[in-house]
Amino acid sequence: MKIISQNEIDRQYACMEKVRLLNGTGKRVLVRTFGCQQNEADSERLAGMAEAMGYVRADSPDDADLILVNTCAVREHAEQRALSITGQYKHLKEKNPNLIIGVCGCMVTQEHRLNTIKNSYPYVDFLIGTGMLYRFPEILLAHLENDKRLFFNDEVEGNIAEGLPVSRESKIKAWVSVMYGCNNFCTYCVVPYVRGRERSRQPDAILAEVKSLIADGVREITLLGQNVNSYGKDLDCGVDFADLVKEICSLDGDFILRFMTSHPKDANRKLIDTMAECGKCARQFHLPMQSGSGRVLTAMNRRYTPEGYLELIQYMRSRMPDIAISSDIIVGFPGETDAEFEETLEMLKKVQFDMTYSFIYSPRELTPAAKLDCQIPAEVKSARMERLLAVQNEISLAKNLAAVGTIQRVLIEGESKSSADMLTGRADSNKLVHIPRTPESEAKLGSFANIRITRAETFALFGELAD
Ligand code: SAH
Ligand code: SF4
Repeated sequence: MKIISQNEIDRQYACMEKVRLLNGTGKRVLVRTFGCQQNEADSERLAGMAEAMGYVRADSPDDADLILVNTCAVREHAEQRALSITGQYKHLKEKNPNLIIGVCGCMVTQEHRLNTIKNSYPYVDFLIGTGMLYRFPEILLAHLENDKRLFFNDEVEGNIAEGLPVSRESKIKAWVSVMYGCNNFCTYCVVPYVRGRERSRQPDAILAEVKSLIADGVREITLLGQNVNSYGKDLDCGVDFADLVKEICSLDGDFILRFMTSHPKDANRKLIDTMAECGKCARQFHLPMQSGSGRVLTAMNRRYTPEGYLELIQYMRSRMPDIAISSDIIVGFPGETDAEFEETLEMLKKVQFDMTYSFIYSPRELTPAAKLDCQIPAEVKSARMERLLAVQNEISLAKNLAAVGTIQRVLIEGESKSSADMLTGRADSNKLVHIPRTPESEAKLGSFANIRITRAETFALFGELAD
């Protein structure tokens, strides 16, 4: 692991200044993001650097001078979407030859995808792998000065770059990465290959960022890491993730703290106890189970058993009876039998998750599971997925119906996506809550409000101001 030196960061700032002078004012940037919250956080840094180079945000690809596609590699579908969007930008480049297109992130960190774009998308001006994102100003400057295509993709082992500008999408919610990379090598997952090894940011750097967010009025902070329970193991400063959570929750300010993701093999009682004792910690836990079958979990290299998983859930509920628990599930892992899939359904019924994110297994080049010859046919995977959704949707609806009549604290975030007459927010449980838009509710935008829940659907709650 390498901490990027202050000299190197200064060099990037000098490049930002040069691009700003070269470009003048009025240039527009569009950042298109695929994938997880870490990618959203990376995009906010790319946008921050672009703004420091004089760019303002474009409303659409048509009025952009610079388009950055920040890609995801976790499933085939995400890669195909990024490739298809990049393909659509070809005609924009034909209309406007000065348009600059950069593709970055997890997809292009894979050699074979880098080569595909290099060879088949000649109008893409530069490619930047995840470990090189901090060099975006230097790469853009080199492209502007020499009009050459550039491909930057080494250093995947990983680094930490502090002090780069950031332009956040929201004024009330913020992502804070506490660590990068992953060492777990679950056999289906590409993340360790495209994000490098686990490395933790210094607690001081994290605390300084969180304090400045709170001072700016941010109300919801989500700590990010592929496996937050590994936080600090590489630092030798005696601070683990639970300590970090405790320290942040002790800060003054009206905010709620969330985090993701916790790996069940490392989620420990200390973290659960800390959550239970910290009022600012959301009553929400995302704990990806992936499968309910012990054999499949072993084949996935997850390193926990269904029994161990259940014990964790029971402990969580014993400490925080009102906690909302969500999970990730993969259906159709190579070799998954009908009986093993049934075990997953049984676990859903036993655990009673508030919500799950379920995925059809997608073979990823580089990973061991993709090489297994017992791949499950697409139609079997889809049929299993449908059954899983039917079981989980019923549970999610029942859980949401149980909330009707309760009063929930909700962070009111903005207009509902489906109706201009509604405002939307998130309860402490992270459930989506819709309320009618009135002068009184508008006055609560950007702050917490007590909402009486009056109605529930599978994926959302509905309510009204309680005070
Ligand atoms: N670090 C997190 C998850 C990161 S990826 C964790 O371990 O929980 C997010 C989710 O994508 C995973 O939890 C898994 O359910 C899903 N996923 C990862 N690789 C996949 C693949 N090859 N096919 C289908 N789903 C996958
Ligand atoms: Fe992927 Fe497993 Fe690492 Fe999560 S813990 S990112 S699923 S390898």
